Amino acid sequence: MNLLVSSSKERERSTTRMSEEDESMAEQSDNGLGLDFILSLDDVPSKLPPHLELFRTRVLCNNDAPIHTDTIHYSGAYGALGVDNSQQFDRFRENFKVEVKRLTDSDMEFDMIGIDPAIANAFRRILISEVPTMAIERVYIANNTSVVQDEVLSHRLGLIPIRVDPRLFEYPDTAGDDNNEKNTIVFRLHERCQVGQPRITVKSDKLKWLPNGSELPSEDVKPNTSSKPKTFTSFTCSQNSLPEFSSNSLDLTDSDIILAKLGPGQEIELEAHAVKGIGRTHAKWSPVATAWYRMLPEVVLLEDFEDEQAEQLVNKCEPNVFDIEDIGKGKRRATVARPRNCTLCRECIRGGKEWEDRISLRRVKHHFIFSIESTGALPPEVLFTEAVKILEDKCERVITEFS
Ligand code: SF4
Repeated sequence: MNLLVSSSKERERSTTRMSEEDESMAEQSDNGLGLDFILSLDDVPSKLPPHLELFRTRVLCNNDAPIHTDTIHYSGAYGALGVDNSQQFDRFRENFKVEVKRLTDSDMEFDMIGIDPAIANAFRRILISEVPTMAIERVYIANNTSVVQDEVLSHRLGLIPIRVDPRLFEYPDTAGDDNNEKNTIVFRLHERCQVGQPRITVKSDKLKWLPNGSELPSEDVKPNTSSKPKTFTSFTCSQNSLPEFSSNSLDLTDSDIILAKLGPGQEIELEAHAVKGIGRTHAKWSPVATAWYRMLPEVVLLEDFEDEQAEQLVNKCEPNVFDIEDIGKGKRRATVARPRNCTLCRECIRGGKEWEDRISLRRVKHHFIFSIESTGALPPEVLFTEAVKILEDKCERVITEFS
């Protein structure tokens, strides 16, 4: 009982003490001496000190190995310094930028700024393996007397890029027996080298599109039957008559891909059926020859390089990153003129401390130089927007699963 009385008295005293402290804090705050006042003091940083900011935003490429390669994700990583490191959508939207640097029919280079490496890598992987295209999947060989084996010839045919919008087609039926005008493109190849003639080269331009579907009979034709033999496809109409094709061309991207060489008397007759697929199933469906990125290079001269040393520095750098400027009185100084050219060969920091300590090679962690080289099915800018849509779908699926 005594114990209880004493603990309740203790609690009372502590409550009194707490309220006294609160009052004094409130008083301090009223007098401008509260938390806001403390955070506004000169020696309490409102942002990261320069060395931490450097490690947070740059990879330092030293002579032996790069350091500070991680990106800091933990929201409270700099909490002790009063800096909020949490991911905020508004902040991301404000900082995120895409700047197209080069765009042709087949390739594109653009800068993606303010994005995490994981997202940049997600785009790269989606481009390589998840954006669909049309590619030759089934080859029906009626005759092949060339030196190229059937399977090798089929493989070569599969790798020919087809310039057609895959969004106009459906994925093939998994059973593989409903090959119609919505999911199959048929090409025919029939070449023969006549006896007594020189050898001929069979190139991809000999593949002819059959808009009405397969012409090869899929079963033995019975003699004296008037009905049309069954073929490998069942088109209900010509693909030429479909409105989707009226404004979209269908062609091979390259007409001079060598398929085989035929000697006198040799012949190839086949039908090649293209269907929709993705690069994850087979590389022939990948819409890109390559999709890659690198972090923006940053080259900083920590000390001046003048006259002869400036020339040595310029000569060390094959990709031509440095220039020499005139600084008057007959003196010349090295400048970083084209940092984007830097390939990180590290040649400029080789040759001892004299070089290593005077040049800082860095990579900007959230700035990516992204390159897409299309195989020709779709223009590179369309490929990227398709990759964005695929990532968006994936995010929506995850949100639906969690909600
Ligand atoms: S790392 Fe190589 S490419 Fe980059 S600045 Fe130095 S020498 Fe030039």
